Amino acid sequence: MTDLPPTGSPQIRFDVLTLFPGLFDGFLTESILGRAIRNQLVDVRLWDLRQWAVNKFGQVDDRPFGGGPGMLLMAPPVVDGVEAISNDDPAPAHVVLMSPGGRTFDQAKARELLQKRRLILICGRYEGFDQRAIDILKPELLSIGDFVVSGGEVPAMVVMDAVMRLVPGVLGDESSAVDESFHDDRGLVEYPHYTRPREYRGLGVPEILLSGDHARIAKWRESQRRIKESKEQS
Ligand code: SAH
Repeated sequence: MTDLPPTGSPQIRFDVLTLFPGLFDGFLTESILGRAIRNQLVDVRLWDLRQWAVNKFGQVDDRPFGGGPGMLLMAPPVVDGVEAISNDDPAPAHVVLMSPGGRTFDQAKARELLQKRRLILICGRYEGFDQRAIDILKPELLSIGDFVVSGGEVPAMVVMDAVMRLVPGVLGDESSAVDESFHDDRGLVEYPHYTRPREYRGLGVPEILLSGDHARIAKWRESQRRIKESKEQS
């Protein structure tokens, strides 16, 4: 697909505070999101937390009081960083901190975040954050699920991806976000899809999809949508 001319007015701006900006390289340049950024439908800025290190050695972490394994991100670099990033643009920013203990991210939250227009995403590393960074900044804590990954970068990419594809024009076909899993409050997932070949390893395609009767196809598809299985059911 060819790139559209730049619109010049991004629908949403993301500022990401991270120790590893390089992790975002491919994510922000390839495919759908790369195109959205080039077309200025969305604006993404990466900020290296070390800019706000507490000393000339670039220190941003330290050992936890009370002992225990690992290191914590210190409060001053995180607080100073977020305050500086906030002031980089007069538009008020909604601050989100990636945390396994946060509320689980879902499609409804993606829709809600899109409305904020400006988001600061804070990525943790090591054992996480000095609690005072959280107490001072009062960010929204978001988790991508009940498991632990090594840093907040992949979780931040998950959030950005889900929000960005809701921006009008980001997906090639306007209707594709409307038709998708979880697009309304019923929590239904998509109906099954088929493409060529018409027969594969003895499996055919539901006849109705070959009928050309669009009204019946739409009805069939609606009937095939279902509630996602929850942990308890599976
Ligand atoms: N000690 C922490 C885990 C730290 S993992 C704990 O037990 O909860 C390091 C960082 O990765 C976290 O600060 C957070 O920013 C990010 N992270 C890890 N798992 C995550 C998840 N499921 N959702 C969101 N962020 C996560």
